[in-house]
Amino acid sequence: MRRSKLFLPTLKENPSEASINSHRLMLRAGMIRQSSSGIYTWLPLGYKVLRNIEKIIRFEQNIISQELLMPTIQDSEIWKKSGRFNDYGKEMLKFKDRHEHELLYGPTNEELITDIFSKNIMSYKSLPLCLYHIQWKFRDEIRPRFGVMRGREFLMKDAYSFDKNKDDAIECYNRMFLNYLRIFDKMELKAIPVAADTGPIGGDLSHEFIILAETGESDVFLDKNILNEKIPNIKYDDPISISKLVNKLTSYYTAADDKHDHDRYLKSVKEENRIKTRGIEVGHLFYFGDKYSRPLGANIANEKGVNIPVEMGSYGIGVSRLVGGIIDAHHDDKGICWPESVAPYIIGIINLRQNDVPCSQLSEKIYDSLKNNNIEVLYDDRDEGAGNKLAEMDLIGIPWQIRIGPRGIKNGYFELLNRKTSEIQEISINDTAKITNIILG
Ligand code: ATP
Ligand code: MG
Repeated sequence: MRRSKLFLPTLKENPSEASINSHRLMLRAGMIRQSSSGIYTWLPLGYKVLRNIEKIIRFEQNIISQELLMPTIQDSEIWKKSGRFNDYGKEMLKFKDRHEHELLYGPTNEELITDIFSKNIMSYKSLPLCLYHIQWKFRDEIRPRFGVMRGREFLMKDAYSFDKNKDDAIECYNRMFLNYLRIFDKMELKAIPVAADTGPIGGDLSHEFIILAETGESDVFLDKNILNEKIPNIKYDDPISISKLVNKLTSYYTAADDKHDHDRYLKSVKEENRIKTRGIEVGHLFYFGDKYSRPLGANIANEKGVNIPVEMGSYGIGVSRLVGGIIDAHHDDKGICWPESVAPYIIGIINLRQNDVPCSQLSEKIYDSLKNNNIEVLYDDRDEGAGNKLAEMDLIGIPWQIRIGPRGIKNGYFELLNRKTSEIQEISINDTAKITNIILG
């Protein structure tokens, strides 16, 4: 993409409405604009990152689950059956259609997926089944804030599992646990599983995945040894190894403020291993048995031919919140430092002297060759001061930068900079193929 053509309205000054790094940087880097409180337009740069995050989630979820797409607008009837039409409270946006029929904008989808299941699956032979979608949700949050971190309209991945008994349901829960570790790891996030309250979803087993950031909304207490745990290479059809992993990770003391037990913390974690910090919830696992299948009549015939309510769980990831979460974990005083897996472009070319013929020729040549190698490249071809171009490329956080200037060319080289480490390599103008080798590792 040529910078001169890209719709990228960056801001030089810090916007006054933003109080945390990710919100400030998303506005400054031209990723989002607020349309009303807690509701945002995703501009091209922000939308590319959002789509990259979705891609990682889809890749991992497709291994253990199937994607479908449920609507944003739901019928109130199923919510009345579960009892949540009133229980959900003011966060739920309700309205009537022209026939005075009550509808709502989905804040979550347990009722709808249970209804779909109950009308289409009758026997344990169709189980286990796990379905997910990535869809916009609306929750009329009392205090939308921190940009996309706590929006009213936000993008969520929500998966739902159906099993014939509790043991199978827990196996699915554990697979999802491992899947989440892998998803967040690919985004270069250290996500800590924390035992959680089940809240309005209900149920009796639940973990939140929390990333550590000073700007997080909840206090987190943990045993720092959990941070050194590596994700083992185990297969999804090995429930015993997965269960061991889950037991190992959940045996560390980790708690957000709502579940923190200070005495137990002091007793079970050595002083030098205690960490108190703040965290951002990016994912949530729930096992809730028959909480929805019973009232909504989602029954299956078991092996003995007896009709029983199906065992269920639900598993959310805050897709749009992750954009902010990744920025809070990956930035410096110049701007964002995207992990390559989610970066909107892998490499940026900064032509430091646009009107210089050798500079432009070399820039164009490298631009074409990167495009031909299917590498996402942003070429800053504008007739602007070098300082502005460099500052903007730092701000938007592209992992690799090529800097092409007249002085370098005269000496036969250009520069390749790693945004995160600030390390600069000089590359011969006759060896442009080297770039691809370096960035593709
Ligand atoms: P929170 O405690 O932050 O309000 P929640 O527990 O109500 O979140 P869940 O129902 O578990 O949220 O939703 C699944 C995921 O969706 C959360 O883990 C979070 O990452 C994301 N999420 C929830 N509410 C919002 C919001 N208002 N804006 C952005 N993402 C959200
Ligand atoms: Mg939650």
